[in-house]
Amino acid sequence: MDRFGRRMMRTLATPQLMLARGEGCRVWDVDGKEYLDFLAGIAVNSLGHAHPVLVDAVSKQIATLAHVSNYFATPPQLELAERLARLTGAGDSGRVYFCNSGAEANEAAFKLARLNRGDGRRKRVLALNNAFHGRTMGSLALTGKPPMREAFEPLPSGVEHIESTIAALEAAIDDRVAALFIEPIKGEAGVLDLPDGFLRRARELTEQHGALLIIDEIQTGVGRTGRWFAYEHAGIVPDAITIAKGMAGGVPIGALVTYGWASELFTRGQHGSTFGGNPLATAAANAVLGEIESSGLVENAARRGEELRAIIRDFDSPLIGAIRGSGLLIGIGLTDGEGHRLSDAALANGLIINAPNESSIRLAPPLIVGDRELAEFREKFGRALADVAVPR
Ligand code: PLP
Repeated sequence: MDRFGRRMMRTLATPQLMLARGEGCRVWDVDGKEYLDFLAGIAVNSLGHAHPVLVDAVSKQIATLAHVSNYFATPPQLELAERLARLTGAGDSGRVYFCNSGAEANEAAFKLARLNRGDGRRKRVLALNNAFHGRTMGSLALTGKPPMREAFEPLPSGVEHIESTIAALEAAIDDRVAALFIEPIKGEAGVLDLPDGFLRRARELTEQHGALLIIDEIQTGVGRTGRWFAYEHAGIVPDAITIAKGMAGGVPIGALVTYGWASELFTRGQHGSTFGGNPLATAAANAVLGEIESSGLVENAARRGEELRAIIRDFDSPLIGAIRGSGLLIGIGLTDGEGHRLSDAALANGLIINAPNESSIRLAPPLIVGDRELAEFREKFGRALADVAVPR
């Protein structure tokens, strides 16, 4: 920890633990202590740790062809693009741009928004207060958290943040809007749901005014919420979505997927990335998505999410308020603002969870969780709650 504090950039707080290895839903620290991982690298390790399907796919691909330039296509890249067009429902009109992270996927989406110019009149880009879209200059401009942005201004111009209410949508959208960005469940803000009917109204208004509806599925996508993509619950079709985190189970990748006319906006030479869509990362994503499909892990996320919610409700603890989110992306509202104390107590009891802020706990376990992990969660989280109930 002393080495970390001295050599790592001060953007990160010194962590509490150093982790050495993982298997399934468990990780071990460098001293050999075991932890139940109910955070999964923040919704990244979809298949848990060291899943044989992912290990095999990455090992085979790196021994075959790890990387080529964008002057060449590769089979895993095309397989993944076609798979994403199918899984997103974008179908024949779907196009995919590959990059290496969530922030980069949102950068690409921001550039897409700029291309919806409407003869130069569409200079406004809308995003939601409190939504998180990344830390690069463009994605930071979209992020609705002023304290994160202020030190880095001026950021790309034209972005306006609005409240997540239907009234705010109706007041803001007009023919000068190029795009509306929506995080369908605000993960970094504490797993906050949008109001009922919000996505449907956003779709109606953006369609009516010719604005792109862009959904950030970076934390919510790839089965996490009990659907392939969180927006599906609203029965809408967006113009674009961004995906990253859970798509390749820990191998860095991001993607922008466009639907319909949005697929015609980018033209040759307007964007690119050295590593984006390389055969190693795309083979990893094919393995993860293939396993999610063949093992029914989207359905497992829906079912286990309900079971986990029931376990949390059963504690009947005065500390626990609203239970938010969907599937295996769960936010626990805390009545007493003890978020960090509770996540520390969980860690001391061998359970990894996270407090995005003092009034929330976030759970995002691997999509493979089963009876054994849920029983272990009940026991460890119960002990952490009891520890926190004791006054400091
Ligand atoms: N968008 C959302 C909704 C996220 O949760 C995140 C990361 O937490 C990002 C974008 C940024 O992704 P990355 O950290 O891969 O750049």
